[in-house]
Order: sequence, then C-alpha cells, then structure tokens
Amino acid sequence: MLQAKPLKILLVDDDQVDRMAVKRALGKKNNKNILIDEACGISEAIQRLTQASAPYDCLLLDYRLGGQNGLQLIQKIQSESLSQAPIVMLSGIDDETIMLNCLKEGAQDFLLKSEISSHSLMRAIRYAQERKQLSLQMRHLAQHDALTGLANRTLFIERVKRAIARANREDSFCAIIFIDVDNFKSINDTLGHEAGDKLLTILAQRIQSSLRGEDLVGRLGGDEFSVLIEGVPKQTTLVNIAQQLLETVQDPVIIYNKTIHTSISVGIASYPSNTSSTPQTSTHQTSSEIASKLIKCADLAMYKAKQSGRNNYCFYSEDLQQLANEYANLKIDLHSALANNEFELYYQPQILAVNHQIAGVEALIRWHHPSRGMISPDKFIPVAESSGLINAIGDWVIEHACSQLKRWLTQFPDSNSTLTMAINVSALQIRQPNLTEKICTVVEKCQIPYGQVELELTESALIDDIDQCVLKLQSLSGQGIQMAIDDFGTGFSSFRHLQQMPLKTLKIDKTFIDQICVTSKNQTIVKAIIAMAHALQMSVVAEGVETKEQAVLLKELGCDKLQGFYFSRPLTASAFEKLLANPRAIPQVGIYTPPSTNQLSAH
Ligand code: C2E
Ligand code: CA
Ligand code: CA
Repeated sequence: MLQAKPLKILLVDDDQVDRMAVKRALGKKNNKNILIDEACGISEAIQRLTQASAPYDCLLLDYRLGGQNGLQLIQKIQSESLSQAPIVMLSGIDDETIMLNCLKEGAQDFLLKSEISSHSLMRAIRYAQERKQLSLQMRHLAQHDALTGLANRTLFIERVKRAIARANREDSFCAIIFIDVDNFKSINDTLGHEAGDKLLTILAQRIQSSLRGEDLVGRLGGDEFSVLIEGVPKQTTLVNIAQQLLETVQDPVIIYNKTIHTSISVGIASYPSNTSSTPQTSTHQTSSEIASKLIKCADLAMYKAKQSGRNNYCFYSEDLQQLANEYANLKIDLHSALANNEFELYYQPQILAVNHQIAGVEALIRWHHPSRGMISPDKFIPVAESSGLINAIGDWVIEHACSQLKRWLTQFPDSNSTLTMAINVSALQIRQPNLTEKICTVVEKCQIPYGQVELELTESALIDDIDQCVLKLQSLSGQGIQMAIDDFGTGFSSFRHLQQMPLKTLKIDKTFIDQICVTSKNQTIVKAIIAMAHALQMSVVAEGVETKEQAVLLKELGCDKLQGFYFSRPLTASAFEKLLANPRAIPQVGIYTPPSTNQLSAH
C-alpha cells in the first residue's frame, strides 16, 4: 500500500505558548503524518518559504506578529509568489473586518484561537486546501483559452507588462510576435467551425513546439496568436524565430480526411526600440500603456506582412525591417548566384614562422553581387546556411579551391610542392552523409595529394553533434585529409574534444592576437594555447596578424604559422600567383623587443 505523503505545515506565530497549543491540536487524535515547521515572524517565515526543499501544504498564520501582522505576510506571499499553499489565519481577536481583509488578500480560512481544537483545525486546513484548489482552477480558466489551452489576452498582457518592467530593470529586451492565420475565414466558412477549431488547435501546438519552453504563446482571439520573447540578444535571432514559425505551419494539416494548406502572417515589435522610437511616446508611460502599444506595433507589422503577400513576416522598426528585407533579398539573389557565376575565391597566405615561406593558403569566398558589389562571406554565409544553399556553395568552394591548388602545384613544382589549401567548412556541410566521398572525388579528379587539403572547422561546428562529428572527421582523416580548428578560443571546445578529434592544426582567433602586444594577459593565453596544441601534436596558426610586433612576438612564443594583413590581405588567384612567383615580397619577421613594463597593461 502507498504510504500517504505527510502534511507539511508552516506555523507562523510569535507566541511560543500559542504555537505549542496549535502543535498539540495537530498532534492529538491525528493519525495523519504531519510535519510542522515554525517561524516567529515575517522574515523568518519568508526564509522558510524560500528555502523549503518541498512546498508547504498549508500555512497557519497568526494575525498578530509582534509589531507586524499576518496580513502583511499574506501580501508579501502573493506579490512575490512565495507560495501556492492554502492559508488559514489564526487570531486571538474576533474582528470581522480583519477576517474579511485576510480573506480578500488571499487567505482561505480564519480560525479564532479560542476555538482551536484538533477537529476544528484539521477541518479548517482541509477546507482551505479545497478552496485553494478551486481558486487556482478558476484562475487558470480565467487566464487561458479554452480551445487551445494557451494564455488568453488577459494573461498575455499581464506577462508583457511584467516583461517590460523586467527589461527596464535589467536593461534588457523583449519582443512580441503577432501571428495571424492566412485565409482562416474561408477555411472556417467552407469546412465548418469544428474543422476551424481543430486547425487552430493544431497550429497552436505547432507554434508552441517551435519555440523555447520559456517563450509565452497566447491566443489573443479568433485566429490571432502572439508570442512573448524575452532576453533575445540578437536581432537576427528574431528573424530566425519568425522564419521557423512560417515553416512550422507550412506542413499540410489533415482534418476530416481533407488536406488543408495553411500559412501565417507574422508581425514583430520589440521593446525598448519600437515603443521609444514612436513620436507619441512620453517618458512617463506605464508598463500597461507600453504593453498595449507594443502589441499594436506587432499587429501593424503583421498587417504589413499580409499586404506584402501573406506567408511572410515584417518588423515594426525601420532598422529591423531593413535587416529582414536585406535577408530576404540576399536569400533570393543567392539562389541564382551560383548559376550566374558570381562567386570568386580569394586566397590568403599562411607563413611559416621559422623561414617566412608560404606554407599554406586559405581560400576565402567573395560574392560579386550584380547590383550591390562585393559582399563579404560574414554577410551571406549565415543566409546560405539558414536557406540550405550552403551545401551547394560549399561544394563549389571545394572544387574551385582544389583545382586552383592543382594549378599552382603544377606551375611551381619545386618551391611550393607542399603548399596546403585550407578550406572553410560550415557545420551544416559536415552533417552531409556523403561529405567524405564528395571531397575524395574532387581530390582524385584534381590529382592533388590528400594531405595538402585542410578543412577548417569552427569550434561550434565540432561540438554540435560530437559523436557524429568524430566519426565523420575520422573518415576524412582516414583518407589523409587534414583538419584544422578555426577561430579557436571563441567557442566552448574542451580538451577532451580536441583529443577526440583528428585535428592537425589549431588556429588562434584574431581577437587574442589583436591585444597580444598590449596586454600581458593575452600573451599568457596565447602562450598557453600554443603549449597545449603542441602537447596534442597540433601545429598552431595565428590569425589576423596585422603588425610586425605581433608577428615577431608570436614567432618567439613558438607559433608555427602566421596569417594576416601584415603579410598579405586575401588576394585574387592571379595576385596570389605573383606572390608565389616572388616570395620575397612577403615581409620578414625580426627579433622581438618587448615593450617596457609600463607599456604593457596587465588586462
Ligand atoms: P575566417 O575563417 O576566420 O577567415 C579569416 C577572416 O579574417 C577573413 O575574412 C580574412 O579576410 C580576415 N582576415 C585575415 N587576416 C586579417 C587581418 O590581419 N586583420 C583583419 N581585420 N582581418 C583579417 P573574410 O574573408 O571576410 O571571411 C570571413 C569569414 O567567412 C571567415 O572567417 C569564414 O568563417 C567565412 N568564410 C569565408 N569563406 C568561406 C567559405 O568558403 N565557406 C564557408 N563556410 N565560410 C567561409
Ligand atoms: Ca578560416
Ligand atoms: Ca578564423
């Protein structure tokens, strides 16, 4: 038989004799298992409530607590959501006004101390538990939409107000995403309300499951949903969320054997940026005014999305809107960029620190956009990744970089016979099941040594799906392909990861190199990274070397290869060829003269 859970009670009373009386009453004739914690005053009670390992089943509060009273404690419990437990007030004075006030503030029952008996106390606790349960159910009903179970307008606005207050307090950010189902009326009219309701329920589930657990989804009415996002650091994250919402509702829904295709229009507004940029804003707005304004902004943006052809999202603010437009345009243009031959690879040399010879070259992609000129990979690679075009673009890069290497190996057979070609590979490319075969086919076709092809992978790409990744890299390295970890120090790879992966090269991120001659801390970090890499039999490349001082110091710290503007910017293939033909054009690295100690900051 299951043992009944003990009843856990917090008894708050400043009078020890009264506490004894209550405990006696609870103990007497009660075969129930009861645990009683005691507190003498408000602060001790709060401490008990916040530190309790399991929630209390009931709170017994004396009305008189020294200079304070139990009513203040109830208010504190309610305003700070310290406990959901039912509350029974105990009092020595029979005062109806006090009783009513306590009940109004959230107590469930009131008992005169003179009437306390084992029976009356247990009954009060039981009744209080029932009433509390009922009031919680009623509150849930009052705050949630009956059809979808999502937050209703009242609760949603309440939570937006809280989010705004928090954003003000913590100098952070929140956003509202307003969602309207396209053509819902016609679905409702043709298939009937019941089908319409089913569709809304399914869409509600899909919307909810495409978001993080902490994002609040509400149904504001009819076919309108809304999402409250808090603490989003990047504007591009909102673009991704909106994109995901559009995609999640796109799968057809089958209701009563009918396949229904749906789409949504999405409007996004964020706080503080939107509400403060509108002219009618006064600095004295309440969070409630700001909340309704923010929802209105998101609603307006949703209308813009509807007007521009549905199945779309729009930002309320100008700059976010611009970002979204740019993203959408880049995505459209990227689709034709490969076919129109708009990509070009640039090449940046990697210099051997010991003899200043060109040991390798990194291929860096450029996009010659027909109207916008040259676009850097930082701008379009993320778009290519989110639109799935990265694999096709990546294949193009691998092919071109390998055939270029072949040309140079043929052209300069003696001096550059060991030149390696470093190719950037994004996380999504590694997930392709046939990546190894694809690369091997290219390497074979170009007739270049496997060992002279090096794939550069970022830390985040490596720890994404670690087991799969290890297998993939092992199959590549089994073929002789080299692997480098890129932007090292910006991600979260651990020693264990580094050890597990067949990595040959570690590239120290530019951010460490930037400050290396200025702060001793960075020098120490770089020194430690080099020592660690060498201990793991990896060679080290320093990225973003811009000055002679940096180059000299890195050489002295034992860095194997150097890459950066000091030696050469990324060059077109023909310019790089000139460098290969005339390696003396590469600046030399001399001896390092450390700055005097007062020039070197410790931070
Ligand atoms: P990355 O792999 O870290 O490449 C180094 C970036 O730093 C390059 O920017 C390069 O031009 C720049 N750089 C090199 N030396 C210096 C220096 O001394 N000072 C400064 N300020 N910058 C320096 P780029 O070419 O704009 O590429 C940016 C990023 O785009 C690359 O960072 C890489 O993550 C990505 N990328 C480039 N080409 C490809 C590609 O073919 N495929 C993929 N998936 N990503 C690529
Ligand atoms: Ca790289
Ligand atoms: Ca890098």
